[in-house]
Amino acid sequence: MIELEKAVESILASIPAPKSEVIPLAEACGRVVAEKILALTDLPPFDNSAVDGYAVLAREVASASSQNPVSLLLAGRIAAGENFSGELSPGQCIRIFTGSTLPRGADAVVMQEDTRNDANPSHKILFLDSAKPWENVRFRGEDVKRGAEIVAPGERLGAAHIALLAAGGTAQVTVNRRPSVALLATGSELKEGGSPLAPGQIYESNRAALAPLIAAASALPQIFPIVPDDAEATRAALSRAFGDCDIVITCGGVSVGEMDFVKSAFEELGGHLEFWKVAIKPGRPFVFGRHGDKLLFGLPGNPVSAFVTFLLLARPALLRWQGAAKVSLPASLGILAEPFSNSDNRRHFMRVALDSKGKVRSAGTQASHLLSSLALAEGLVDMPPRTTLAAGSTVQVLRWE
Ligand code: AMP
Ligand code: MG
Repeated sequence: MIELEKAVESILASIPAPKSEVIPLAEACGRVVAEKILALTDLPPFDNSAVDGYAVLAREVASASSQNPVSLLLAGRIAAGENFSGELSPGQCIRIFTGSTLPRGADAVVMQEDTRNDANPSHKILFLDSAKPWENVRFRGEDVKRGAEIVAPGERLGAAHIALLAAGGTAQVTVNRRPSVALLATGSELKEGGSPLAPGQIYESNRAALAPLIAAASALPQIFPIVPDDAEATRAALSRAFGDCDIVITCGGVSVGEMDFVKSAFEELGGHLEFWKVAIKPGRPFVFGRHGDKLLFGLPGNPVSAFVTFLLLARPALLRWQGAAKVSLPASLGILAEPFSNSDNRRHFMRVALDSKGKVRSAGTQASHLLSSLALAEGLVDMPPRTTLAAGSTVQVLRWE
């Protein structure tokens, strides 16, 4: 039995080097960047107005107030997107809009709400408020300088990165390929949903649970048929899965029973078992193996064990396969609303729910076959062996969504 951190370390050490591909930015959310990305332009690309109003010379409206308005000649108009080659001269103002180029000669923008049209003559604008130099001006390059690194290799792109890259002029990105992941469920008791159960049967649920978790890690799940508890059937299914996919995830059939065929079938196919059994609860019977540069994750069959071992042991591998620098689950701090206790000599990853104030409670009974408490849970708390934490203790909550 090995420690979780040792297990993850050993798994990550077995991951082949990522291979890259070029894809459109619009398809890149969740993908891992293969090369650093530089801004193709200054952001903003030119000095521009932050408001709808009038470009002025600040010193000309320094004394303006509603009692003593300053009148300036309206000398032009710059719409957003317009290329303006003129220049503001003393005594003048220029109509301008949010995002319009600041004209040469101007050093501030007075917002429209602080001005009035001078009824007579109509081409004059009255300024009812002063402006400081550079008020309401957004400067070229103040956000990002052209040539600056905006995304580092190994970073996984989220919507905010995509926004920055799009604004910086990036249309295509070089990202790492995603692994295809075969999902196999083993067990002669398992049945596909949609028809009634015969005595002794249960509906298969692990493939359905794991496929979205795999997709959420930006890998490509491929669901394989249910495999009965039979040596030959298990060998045939694994052989097909390794032929088709980069990574194979099985659930069930990795315990000590004489009906557990995954480990032996894998070895008969030439696979190498790296380790079996990790010192965590739920999920002790977990197998990791290598088949050439392909990987086997043999998860336990109990639904909560399969879910948790996927998150703690397989998810990091799927992300590192894509070159991701950060592979651990997102975590946040929470305060226990009630005491938590783990009397076991293994670490217990407990299902927890969070209230709106961030208080952490048990999501219900923690046995590894109980899905209702998993459905209520928003995260996991890593409880050390033989430990009780009092209400009010600060804990880390590992999240999967
Ligand atoms: P095993 O790891 O094969 O010994 O299975 C442990 C428990 O999990 C047994 O009660 C199985 O019936 C159940 N189980 C195994 N695989 C699945 C699955 N894919 N979906 C739902 N339950 C499963
Ligand atoms: Mg089984």
